[in-house]
Amino acid sequence: MKRDTRLIHSGRCASDPHLVNPPVRRASTVLGERAQALYEPADGTHHYGRGGLSPNDELRSAISDLYGADHVALAPSGLASVVLAMRAAVQGPGEALITDSVYRPVRRFCDEELPRLGVTPRYYDPRIGADIAGLITPSTRMIALESPGSLTFEVQDIPAITAAARTAGVPTVIDDTWSAGWLMNPLALGVDYAAQALTKYAGGHSDLLMGSVAARGEAAKRLRSQETVNGLHVSPDDAFLCLRGLRTLPLRIERSGETGLELARRLETHPRVGRVLHPALPSSPDRAAYARQFTGPSGCFAFTVKDASPAQGDAIAEACQLFAMGFSWGGFESLILPCDRQIIRKAAPWKPAGALLRLSVGLEDVEDLWADLEGALGG
Ligand SMILES: *Cc1c(COP(=O)(O)O)cnc(C)c1O
Repeated sequence: MKRDTRLIHSGRCASDPHLVNPPVRRASTVLGERAQALYEPADGTHHYGRGGLSPNDELRSAISDLYGADHVALAPSGLASVVLAMRAAVQGPGEALITDSVYRPVRRFCDEELPRLGVTPRYYDPRIGADIAGLITPSTRMIALESPGSLTFEVQDIPAITAAARTAGVPTVIDDTWSAGWLMNPLALGVDYAAQALTKYAGGHSDLLMGSVAARGEAAKRLRSQETVNGLHVSPDDAFLCLRGLRTLPLRIERSGETGLELARRLETHPRVGRVLHPALPSSPDRAAYARQFTGPSGCFAFTVKDASPAQGDAIAEACQLFAMGFSWGGFESLILPCDRQIIRKAAPWKPAGALLRLSVGLEDVEDLWADLEGALGG
């Protein structure tokens, strides 16, 4: 079956095939009759937490199908899922290679918490490609990717990086939030742990926080064990909402991507706009790498306003009517975010020629959205 069909029929209710949607079973413990069975449950049965219960299991199963994974862990936020993937990947003290374009709260985990595990973060240029081999040493414990990168949208050469990592026996982790596992499959490109903030496109309705990590083989075993020891569980109500969002993920992400690309093209010709950071534009330095790895764009990208101070960037965002200001993205509504305050770069310096604004394009009409941007930019 094709992917679109599978996404509709995967993750159906195992206990009752007549149900289109699984029941929401709120439980924190499951009672047993025999003491021995409590301590040694048969495969697939449950005795504590929400493992084995609907709709959490159905959500895991649908995401597993999306990635072709052996195990999918669910975490209470996207940030928690990336952290979980890193904890599963890192085995012992040493150094971790982290893309310089990493999501800022993850960067904070790398700077503050990895050292407590005896691991020193070292940031690399996201466009490094096969040259990552030159940074790998016997003490490299993990390579972390994010593609395209947060705020600056550099596309990484995933197959080149994972090939070098595999040769050296180093596990790889990716933050796959932009593609939502739909526009790309990092596991098929050689990544060991694929995390995504389900909060964004998979949830898609700006009403839940959740994250997932998908893995195969040995990595799947480590992932399962880390999930358990860290006590990660998500609410069945959120799992239900997330599974409901997932059913329409392709429609929403593709429409948002199309509208976003059209707005990106128009912004490129606007006299006040400097650079448009969108990997699918022919003018993008990442266009070829993007086309090799992604089936299409999602609707999140950024642009700079020529010679504008961050305060002038703020004023443009505040002048928008349809594009509301807020963190997060991937919902049905369009958002705009001034980004200059958030950017930290070490390995690949960011030299803006103006204020940086990020857009998350929703499902509104493209002409209405363009009119809003034009009005806010003036002229
Ligand atoms: C939003 C985001 C996250 C974190 O997701 P939360 O659910 O908000 O914790 C992680 N990575 C990227 C790239 C994101 O944009």
